Amino acid sequence: MTTTTAPTTPGTTLREGAFGPAVSLICRECGTTRELGPHYACHECFGPLEIGYEFGSVTREQIEAGPANIWRYKALLPVPDDIESSPNLEPGFTRLLEARNLATELGITKLWVKDDSTNPTNSFKDRVVACALSAAREFGSKVFACPSTGNLANAVAAAGARAGIRTVVFIPSNLETPKQVNSAVFTENLVAVDGNYDDVNKLASEIAGEEDGWAFVNVNVRPFYAEGSKTLGYEIAEQLGWRLPDQIVIPVASGSQLTKVHKAFQELIALGLVEDKPYKVFGAQAEGCNPVATAFAEGHDAIRPVKPDTIAKSLAIGNPADGIYVLDIARQTGGAVEQVSDDEIRDAIVLLARTEGIFTETAGGTTLAVLKKLVATGQLDPERETVFINTGHGLKTLDAVSGSVGPAATIAPTYDAFVAANLA
Ligand SMILES: *Cc1c(COP(=O)(O)O)cnc(C)c1O
Ligand SMILES: [Zn+2]
Repeated sequence: MTTTTAPTTPGTTLREGAFGPAVSLICRECGTTRELGPHYACHECFGPLEIGYEFGSVTREQIEAGPANIWRYKALLPVPDDIESSPNLEPGFTRLLEARNLATELGITKLWVKDDSTNPTNSFKDRVVACALSAAREFGSKVFACPSTGNLANAVAAAGARAGIRTVVFIPSNLETPKQVNSAVFTENLVAVDGNYDDVNKLASEIAGEEDGWAFVNVNVRPFYAEGSKTLGYEIAEQLGWRLPDQIVIPVASGSQLTKVHKAFQELIALGLVEDKPYKVFGAQAEGCNPVATAFAEGHDAIRPVKPDTIAKSLAIGNPADGIYVLDIARQTGGAVEQVSDDEIRDAIVLLARTEGIFTETAGGTTLAVLKKLVATGQLDPERETVFINTGHGLKTLDAVSGSVGPAATIAPTYDAFVAANLA
């Protein structure tokens, strides 16, 4: 761990109320607290810092009266009360769809898809980036940046464009072309690095340590960034009619999203916005990048890093920062972390498309394939209400299925040829 770095312009002082209900940074490892600021590692033990809050009274009615985006939950996020007045992509409040055809196919009684592929840059990353952007603004940062497995770069580049702040985004050079183009349209500064995500991440930490005024969303403003994932949990509960599901399946890259959805559910219970009840949290990984699933299966507390090799590139983090917390949550709630092969991922992408009309990327394919496996192995109860999160859009990972689907026939433009093709 390098030193904690400051993505601030020297001399910038923070506005009153810059972080709303957030009051401190708390070390997840040793509980040491410190003042809010551009810090991400504990000065006592180098553990990761997360946001601590003192919530005022928050009611369902107050939330329901808010805008149809994540800012309806601003009273629960580290953002200022006037957040809606700063240009941003206004992500969130995506659809929660009941998946009846898919449920029948899988033998599940009640199944919902939280479809985050419809966010402004077509992945859940717009949520976390919106919170990171707010923090970067309050810190007076000059550059908005990230190391990324693809979707994050898209979201940072687009949000930075709208906010009028310079962006620089770093990706592994072997990334899918659509994900590269989806960043490059928004920024002049897409940097392809010859290495895997973990190499790109290390480089970003080094740059963050050397350069002033750089806000790396998932490095030195990570505590603020990570809170954005809580909105997925809030929305699922609100859209179920202010209830928690019995079981939820969430993809795991760094593990941040899964830990924050659980945090959101706990906050809603503590605030009396939903009834307290047990629920199980399940994590989804690909066999080609399975450090958390392996630790879960083997009963280990530590994560052994892996070298990723999977079509689920948005989940290809070999050394996941929040992996140990994912293990804790899966074990505490009676869930699990499972893994599936690339072929199972491809099949699940087509299954979701053909049953529900939703085209997911490889991360969503991983999540659905894991859900299927959890049912088949009896780890998930098909009689209990279940939600799975579709985190990204299939148009970004066309190559994954371009070999599995295509024209049923190529025919002459005649009725006879059509009949002869004998379509299903
Ligand atoms: C980043 C990403 C995830 C997982 O994110 P973590 O919070 O790092 O676990 C899942 N799905 C998609 C599509 C992503 O881009
Ligand atoms: Zn600490």
